[in-house]
Amino acid sequence: MARTRALVVEDEPDIAGLIKHALERGGDIQVEIAAAGDLALKSVAEAPPDLVILDLNLPVVNGFEVCRILRMRPDTQRIPIIILTARSSESDRVVGLESGADDYITKPFSMRELTARVQAVLRRGSGGSAAAAAAAPMLYRGQNLVVDFEAISVMVDGRSARLTRREFELLQFLVQNRNRVVSRNRLLERVWGYERDVETRSVDVHVGRLRAKLGASARQIETVVGLGYRFVD
Ligand code: CA
Repeated sequence: MARTRALVVEDEPDIAGLIKHALERGGDIQVEIAAAGDLALKSVAEAPPDLVILDLNLPVVNGFEVCRILRMRPDTQRIPIIILTARSSESDRVVGLESGADDYITKPFSMRELTARVQAVLRRGSGGSAAAAAAAPMLYRGQNLVVDFEAISVMVDGRSARLTRREFELLQFLVQNRNRVVSRNRLLERVWGYERDVETRSVDVHVGRLRAKLGASARQIETVVGLGYRFVD
């Protein structure tokens, strides 16, 4: 079987070398390095990789631009992209995700974290199985809705939505179990921790409030009569 090819776009040779070493250690990933944005685009055009790990502050063409260009081109738009950067402000994170990245890791990071994220992104790319859902992906990207589970950020049609903690956890659980029916009792158990004074009616109330904040994406939370709720793609 062919090894997975990852392109690491990083202008600091030490960091690029460390990443290459960490990812190649398992034996099933082969890493190429591009030290500038234009070189990355050239490399992708010549031989599209299975994954791009992208720094933001890069010579010639910056990482946001590289990401945007790759997402515009039909032949490269599905390549998973993980942005890796020292920029950690919320606006950078949002711009990064809106420019089409699948995940976002801030420096300093551990190699263990990076390899875990890489594996998660590659698993998702190979077909969204139940196992991938169990691995709790850090990002959901739908037509109108983008949820960053790590940053606890929800964007609806490009605008930040303000959810309460409970609403966020409810959304997270539904998204992680997407396309499957989740009963009210299971939601009570997993989201509420089964507080005895909470009735299943509470679940309905919270789902109602959550839907009201999700705009066009409200329809993605379906009521399954007699059973519970289901989040659909
Ligand atoms: Ca850099």
